[in-house]
Amino acid sequence: MAPPPNGQQPTRLRDHGLQSERLLWPTKGPSHFEQEMGPEEIEQALGLTTLEKAVRWAQTRSMWPDTFGLACCAIEMMSIVSSRYDIARFGMEAFRSSPRQADLLIVSGRVAHKMAAPIRQIYDQMLEPKWVIAMGACASSGGMFNNYTILQGVDRIIPVDIYVPFCPPRPEALMEGIIRLHEAHLAGVPPAYERREVAT
Ligand code: SF4
Repeated sequence: MAPPPNGQQPTRLRDHGLQSERLLWPTKGPSHFEQEMGPEEIEQALGLTTLEKAVRWAQTRSMWPDTFGLACCAIEMMSIVSSRYDIARFGMEAFRSSPRQADLLIVSGRVAHKMAAPIRQIYDQMLEPKWVIAMGACASSGGMFNNYTILQGVDRIIPVDIYVPFCPPRPEALMEGIIRLHEAHLAGVPPAYERREVAT
């Protein structure tokens, strides 16, 4: 917010950062709106944002997850739709089986090599912007399965935004990961596919 001249209390919309041509015109007097509202009322009536921030806010309130449970972690993931955890408060209770209607891929469980191609295909079919959470030690790094059958981290085939640790993570841990993802998106952090490279 630009400070008003001489340290006075802001009385004009332009003092609050609005930058339309009319408001910035030097010889234009206060509008009717500005005249009718006192400084305190203007302060209370204004809610300033940018279109970009408003879109980001809306996206964090409707990040629909794709169902991709692979092993034991999936049971913990499923429980976040229950009333105890209530993922619906973020508008995220719509777990879709179609990747074309999903924004968030929660990979929960160990990823066998034979599942790598289907996961990659599903990820590629999701529309942008899209995000990925690797839930649990197995999805994040292969976990205890350091052998030839298990992919040692799903980030080898798709870019991951958030890693949720533990074996298995409790639903609270997944909720924490989701909230961190929302915070990062609101702060303007781009999705992982814009920041990281993975094998194609
Ligand atoms: S992290 Fe633990 S609970 Fe999750 S899939 Fe691996 S072994 Fe199962």
